[in-house]
Amino acid sequence: MQNSGHYSKVDSHNVFKRLSNATHKQPVRRWKPSDFELGKRLGKGKFGRVYCVREKKSGFICALKVMSKDEILLYKVEKQFVREIEIQASLRHPNCLRLYGWFYDDKNVYLILEYAAYGELYKMLKKRKRFDEVTTSYYIFQVAAALEYMHNKHIIHRDLKPENILVHFHNQIKLSDFGWSVYAPQNTRRNTMCGTLDYLPPEMVESKSHDETVDVWALGVLMYELLVGRPPFEDENSGVTYRRIVKVDLRIPTFISSEAADLIKKLLRYEPKKRISLHNLQRHPWIIKNRGLWDTLKD
Ligand code: AMP
Repeated sequence: MQNSGHYSKVDSHNVFKRLSNATHKQPVRRWKPSDFELGKRLGKGKFGRVYCVREKKSGFICALKVMSKDEILLYKVEKQFVREIEIQASLRHPNCLRLYGWFYDDKNVYLILEYAAYGELYKMLKKRKRFDEVTTSYYIFQVAAALEYMHNKHIIHRDLKPENILVHFHNQIKLSDFGWSVYAPQNTRRNTMCGTLDYLPPEMVESKSHDETVDVWALGVLMYELLVGRPPFEDENSGVTYRRIVKVDLRIPTFISSEAADLIKKLLRYEPKKRISLHNLQRHPWIIKNRGLWDTLKD
C-alpha cells in the first residue's frame, strides 16, 4: 500500500499549518512533549503509538497519540487526518472520545486524547468470546447515543466496529477513530466506499450513494458480533460476504432472545429508510427489558 512518497517539506508545512488554521480552536496553551510525563504504552495503531501520560502541572491523566508527520504524508492520508482532527475536536458527548488538543514539532504530530482505561472493545470481545445480553444492550445503547449526537450535528461516523470503540471505567463506551467520518449537511448523499468489509451496508456494496443510516446498519452488525462473537455476514471469501450483505442473509442463533433478534432485524434492513431510528432503538423492548440491570455494570 506504500505510495511513491513524492512530497516536499513545503507541502508538509502547509498541511499541518491547515490543522492549526482550519479549526479556529487552537488550544490557548501551546503544548510541548516535555509538558507530559510518559507512562505505559497503551497500543500501536497504523499511524502511531499511544501512551498513557500525566500532564505535569495539573496531574491530569490522558492519552497521547504520537504520529510521525513523514508517515502521514508518505501514505497520503494527510487530508483524512486533518478532517479527523477537525471532527473529533468539535465533539462533546460522554460517549465520544474527547480530543483535548494537539501540537506538533519537526517530526511528529501529537494528539491529547481522553484516556479510556480498558482499551479496545475488540480486545475485550476476543477475550470473552461474546457478551451477555445485559452487557451488550448497555454498550449498544451508549453507541446509539453517541451516533444520534453525531447525526444531529450532520456527522456520519462510517467506520463503526469493535476496534474503534474504547471502554472506560464503569463500562462507559467511548466512540473513537473518526478517520472516515464526514460532515454531510442535510439532504446530501455521499458516494465514497469506506469502512470495513464486514460492516459495509448493502448500498455501499452496490456502489449507491449513502447517508447517516450506514451507521445504523453498522450498529446492527456490531450488536450481532457482540452477542454471537463474529459478524453476521462473515466468510473467508470476500465475494461471498458481499453477496450475503446484499441479500441480507441473516442467520440468528437460537440462543439469542426474541427481543434481541427483533432489534437486529430492524437495524439490518436492506432499505436504508426502513432501518429503525436511533431514537426508537433507545426505547426498543430489548433495551427496556435490560436497562434495569445495567447498574451492576456501572460499579
Ligand atoms: P490507534 O492508533 O488509535 O488505533 O490506537 C492504538 C491502540 O492504542 C488502540 O488499539 C488502543 O488499544 C490504544 N488506545 C488508543 N487510544 C486510546 C485511549 N484514548 N485510551 C486508551 N487506549 C487507547
